[in-house]
Amino acid sequence: MSSDVLFIGLGNMGLHMAKNLAKAGYVVTGFDLVQASVDSLVASGGQSTKSLADAIKAASTIVTMLPASQHVQAVCLGETGLLTLAKPGTLIIDSSTIAPEVSRDLGKLAESKGITMVDAPVSGGTFGAEAGTLTFMVGGTAEGFARAKPYIEKMGKAIYHAGGYGSGQTVKVCNNMLLGITMIATAEALQLGIANGLDPKVLTEIISKSSGSNWALINGNPCPGVKEDSAASRGYTGGFGTDLMLKDLGLAVENALSTKTTVTLGATARNLFDIHSKSGHGGLDYASIFKMLQK
Ligand code: NAD
Repeated sequence: MSSDVLFIGLGNMGLHMAKNLAKAGYVVTGFDLVQASVDSLVASGGQSTKSLADAIKAASTIVTMLPASQHVQAVCLGETGLLTLAKPGTLIIDSSTIAPEVSRDLGKLAESKGITMVDAPVSGGTFGAEAGTLTFMVGGTAEGFARAKPYIEKMGKAIYHAGGYGSGQTVKVCNNMLLGITMIATAEALQLGIANGLDPKVLTEIISKSSGSNWALINGNPCPGVKEDSAASRGYTGGFGTDLMLKDLGLAVENALSTKTTVTLGATARNLFDIHSKSGHGGLDYASIFKMLQK
């Protein structure tokens, strides 16, 4: 069995991305530990596989969209890993958000085996994944970027080559540190307005046209009912998990330690999401930090 793309990791993001590749005409074989996600891809024109090892050996392009560094390492390394089973010449696009140094090591290891690998984390949320409007920040060689671009163009709109291996992840870590901080700041501002009797919809509308406007306010508004299609309005489900944001802020703080950079707000944001997660909200969308700040 052969396919144009083997897609590993069909979660909140990956399933939409794989479906967009299938919609664009690629033959997409999907693999995930959750069978229902594979079934959903198949219902949208994709394929499943009985043997992941055979699918890896047959693949010319592989996309991974996994939670964290350890999952990407587990899928890539070892006897049954991508970097062992994939044939030389294979292109691997890892869109997971992971530690820049892990991407750097994997990129170099892949290169030593004749495999082209790029780190290509994304921004734009689950709705960007569904609409095919994600921003991609790519790290790797110029050749890797050129080879990955035709696939990435079917899943995203803004596509950037940030630099060598791991550079895409570094941009992503900086971006998500900013997003985590602005989500907390946005939630605080909305709670303050509500405590003063303001309608959060009115408050949002006015701030969105003022100097406090930001992405978390407009696209990820944390107050239920302000935006009909937000994760907040569906019980904080199906978006960007609190534990994923906590992971990204952890990557930022770790990176700041190793580069001797000062990230006071990034570290505070990490601590607040940590408390929120430990209070049992790790699986909810990160905008649910709004609830933690509720009176
Ligand atoms: P998710 O947890 O919904 O999906 C991850 C999927 O990987 C799950 O379906 C899981 O079953 C699967 N998986 C884990 N280990 C596997 C393995 N060994 N083999 C096959 N499948 C495996 O996560 P998500 O929200 O889709 O995010 C994926 C990545 O994208 C993360 O790194 C996240 O930080 C990043 N990201 C997420 C968003 C968002 O809004 N959700 C936005 C930008 C970036």
